[in-house]
This record gives sequence, C-alpha cells and structure tokens, in this order.
Amino acid sequence: MLPGYRTITYSIQPNDSLWTIAITNNIPVDSIALLNPTIQPMNLQIGKTILLPEKVRSAIITDLNKYTYEKFQQDLHNLQAIYPFMFQQSIGKSVMGKEIVELQIGRGSNDVHLNGSFHGNEWITTSVIMKFINEYALSLTNHNPIRGRFTLPLYQTTQLSVVPMVNPDGVNLVINGAKAAGDYETKVLEMNHQNTNFSNWKANIKGVDLNKQYPARWETEVERKPTSPQPRDFPGYEPMTEPEAITMADLANERNFSIVNALHTQGEEIYWGFEGLEPPESEQIVNEYARVSGYLPVQYIDSYAGYRDWFIQEFRKPGFTIELGTGVNPLPFEQFPEIYEETLGILLANLYL
Ligand SMILES: [Zn+2]
Repeated sequence: MLPGYRTITYSIQPNDSLWTIAITNNIPVDSIALLNPTIQPMNLQIGKTILLPEKVRSAIITDLNKYTYEKFQQDLHNLQAIYPFMFQQSIGKSVMGKEIVELQIGRGSNDVHLNGSFHGNEWITTSVIMKFINEYALSLTNHNPIRGRFTLPLYQTTQLSVVPMVNPDGVNLVINGAKAAGDYETKVLEMNHQNTNFSNWKANIKGVDLNKQYPARWETEVERKPTSPQPRDFPGYEPMTEPEAITMADLANERNFSIVNALHTQGEEIYWGFEGLEPPESEQIVNEYARVSGYLPVQYIDSYAGYRDWFIQEFRKPGFTIELGTGVNPLPFEQFPEIYEETLGILLANLYL
C-alpha cells in the first residue's frame, strides 16, 4: 500500500475502465492492478467490488479525550496501516505488562526524543503527542506545510523518537478507576485511602513516582518525600527499581539523543537547567521554545531525580521539562486546543533547530 493512502471498496459502473477509475479517483492506474491482482482490465464486470487506494487528507486520530492505553493502541495500529514509514516498536513493559511503545519518524542523523505521560494524571500530554504525530505524517504525505514550514526536509535531517505513554498503568488508573488496576486493585485503593477517584494519581501502579526514580540527586528527594508507595512523589526504595523508569533509561543509553523533551502538566513553564550541567545551547533552545509557545523558561527548580535531570547529568545534552497548560491535573480537556497550539511550536522547533 502507498504511504498516506487507505483502502476503500468500489463497485464497477457501466462504461468503467481502469483508466477512468484511476482518473476519477486521482490515483495511479498501476495501484488498482496491485490492489486487485485477479482483475481482468479488458473484462470488468459491472457491479463487481474492487479495492481502491484513497489518499488520506485529514487526521485519523480524533478521539483524544480520556486517552487510555486502549485508544492509544488502536491509534498506533491505524497509523501503522496508513503510514508504514512510521517505525513502531515495544521498548519494554509496564508493571502490569502493557507495552511501552516507541515510534521513530525520520531518516536523519539528528536524534530528537519526546515523551509523555510519565505521570498518570497528565495523560493529556499523550493526546498532544499523538495529534502532533498524525499532523506530521499528514504534512509529509500531502506536502502541506505546518506553520509555513515544509516538513520533508525536517524528516530527512532528523530522527524523531517518541514514547507517547511512559506510564500506561497509571494513565488507565486515572481514567478508568481501580478496576483498571487488576491484581493491584486492593493496593491502589489502600494507597489512595479508599478514595475511588484517582485524579491525583501520578505514580505507576505500584505507587512509585517514575519521574523521581533517576539517580540525579535522588537522595535529596528521598530525604523529604514520602517513604512508602503513594499516589505521587514516592521516589522508590532505590533509584531505578521500576520497569518503566528502567526502560526509558535504557533507551537513552542505547541512542544518541541530541535533545530530550519530557511533556508534563501544568504551569506553562519550561525547565531547562540541572546543577549547571546543561550545555550552553540549552539557553538558546529554550528561548526559541518560549518565543513560539509563550511559556516561561525556568533554569533551576527545587525538584530532582527526574528523567530530564538524569539525561542532562549523564549526557550533558539539552533536556527540557515542558509543563503544558494551567490548572489542576488532570487538566480539563476543554483546554486541549489551546495547549496543542502552544506546544506545536515547541515540537516543531525540535525538528528545525
Ligand atoms: Zn508530571
């Protein structure tokens, strides 16, 4: 199948030939023969159903509210069918065995990494990423610019690595409640003080905050944060005990990311420094992010042991935590269009900077 096309069915009409069908539908005549290997061009039967490629010209990912792991899986499947150049792989599994999926888009040598939903109640970050991925693919296959910028040159110079949902168990718990926790149902209710509303839940299903798991001033967080599993902020009994956190560290260790974006909510701020270990170009990059998003750059914050902290410490490359939107997590979905518009400029900047 041609990238950027889907398959539709068509019923042969009187006076149809492969040529007229191709011209009417604006598709290559060869593609009809390829999709219908048994077709006899000189003997088309009226009323017979054949397959035709149809160019996809609008987003296929449209149901982005309450964006569960299952919606995510379905959308990945649909993207794969239409955009086979979008490489997908499982890079690990969550505590409950859900796949942690990475997508790779691009043929370039500049490896840019983007992730979302480290925190369960920040699932809207996955919605933002998936909408962006879909828009990028559409732009490539239709030769439409995004914000005045043609994307094929970006595709040729970068390889975008995306992990849209780092914490799928946490996301499903926040959206679907305790029943989504399976064998952990009793435990999560206990940790949540029997409250059946999990909107405060940031951690993975074992009550470990995945973005406080990294050995980058982890000790500082241990001294002042909860000492047992909780809906949020428990850094674990040791650094790097949780499969989701390990998976993400392994990924960075195996690649050569030139830049990392971790999407969180909320605050409309961008954190860009860590202990003075960030490279000088981090400041230039964050200024461009601020210009295109209106978000406020903040160099240092009193929060440690996050993925971005660790990435800067280990690789001395630019790493950014982007706090999308304002309000109380999970952010109301009515904010999504505004958040997407603010974030789009940042995500695009990663590809041209
Ligand atoms: Zn967060």
